[in-house]
Amino acid sequence: MSSKIQMKTLLVDIDGDEMTRVMWAMVKDNLLEPYIDLKTEYYDLSLEKRDETDDNITIEAAEAIKKYGVGVKCATITPNAARVEEYNLKKQWKSPNGTIRAILDGTVFRAPIMLKNIEPAVRFWKKPIIIGRHAYGDVYKNVEYKIDKPGKAELVYVSNNGDEKRKTIQEFNGPGIIQGIHNIDKSIESFARACFTYALDQKTDLWFATKDTISKTYDAHFKEIFERIYHEENYKSKFEKNGIIYFYTLIDDAVARVVRSEGGFLWACKNYDGDVLSDFLGSAYGSLALLTSVLVSPYGYFEYEAAHGTVQKHYYKHLKGEKTSTNSMAIIFAWTGALKKRGELDKTPKLVEFADNLEKAAIETIEKNRIMTGDLARISNPPAKKVAETEEFIQAVANNLTKKL
Ligand code: NAP
Ligand code: MG
Repeated sequence: MSSKIQMKTLLVDIDGDEMTRVMWAMVKDNLLEPYIDLKTEYYDLSLEKRDETDDNITIEAAEAIKKYGVGVKCATITPNAARVEEYNLKKQWKSPNGTIRAILDGTVFRAPIMLKNIEPAVRFWKKPIIIGRHAYGDVYKNVEYKIDKPGKAELVYVSNNGDEKRKTIQEFNGPGIIQGIHNIDKSIESFARACFTYALDQKTDLWFATKDTISKTYDAHFKEIFERIYHEENYKSKFEKNGIIYFYTLIDDAVARVVRSEGGFLWACKNYDGDVLSDFLGSAYGSLALLTSVLVSPYGYFEYEAAHGTVQKHYYKHLKGEKTSTNSMAIIFAWTGALKKRGELDKTPKLVEFADNLEKAAIETIEKNRIMTGDLARISNPPAKKVAETEEFIQAVANNLTKKL
């Protein structure tokens, strides 16, 4: 009989591209497989495989998460024209994350890993600020064009039974621009539920903000839907029971408060706000490589990943046989997040305990041993004792982990 930790239900393991694919294998080989009898269903979402399967592999991976509940995903290339040529692709396949998100109807939550020697740019921040971004509609599904001669722009809606609503947007005397945006209640409702669910899961306060003083119908509708779901679906009593609050304010007030806060809450953001603010927070907390990400579906499926991409520049160095110093922290935490969730759902405390120990071992490597990759060494205070190559860092984490088990 093996002494490895056993898993009850399998985890969906979604592999990807370039440098993150290289680290994916290293993390499994050095930090997971020696200790866990890793039960996974493996999906290879490398660009080659997606091209070979006409991207069906991406759909299959998402369906597997629906079946088993928890997945962990490596970064993947979203092909542009240059990639089509580089990989000789049949076509410019869609973003795998977009495809998976559409199938799971999920909301993405991003949280920084905080380390004592990597100080946030905002010195008040003591705890993570997690961003939940609504990933549907608004300016990301807009219709827009330029106006080149004088005339009147109207907003017209024709219902299926022929009623018409119209409002003047602007009477143009000269050239200008117009844009139409929309959102749908169903999507805002599932965003609200995902945020309430995640806040409860993490036992953390929830903030939400829009510009409803200016956008008295559009933005106000987001606020109203959050309010309604909070009260009607019993989140209010659950929040009170857990000692957490739901706080609504104006977006500009929220930004000012966030900077003065000590962190420790979930910040639900409309699509554009979340796009901008997650990059802002990610870099303000130290490094893109310390940002973790989880897709939470309102139906109870979870997909964990690192927020960063495939780190293409480092991969090209790696291909030339040169040493790289690429940070695997967010990949390690994607795995620990997924293993913890699997352990919670299956009631296998040993798996949760292992994941906690692995996180501690990784944090100690940077905080105590001060062994870290170049991206962190540049900003560490006190300075790094050793700037580790990609594999050396993972080895150092493995050494600390062995001591804990
Ligand atoms: P990226 O892979 O996130 O890398 C951008 C830069 O950030 C890197 O060149 C590197 O800076 C730094 N960096 C990111 N992660 C790092 C890590 N773990 N350790 C050390 N440094 C790190 O973004 P990109 O270069 O714009 O995109 C590359 C590919 O990733 C694209 O094909 C894109 O489609 C894909 N992508 C995928 C996902 C996803 O699957 N979730 C997300 C974003 C992008 P230095 O070069 O200065 O060291
Ligand atoms: Mg962005």
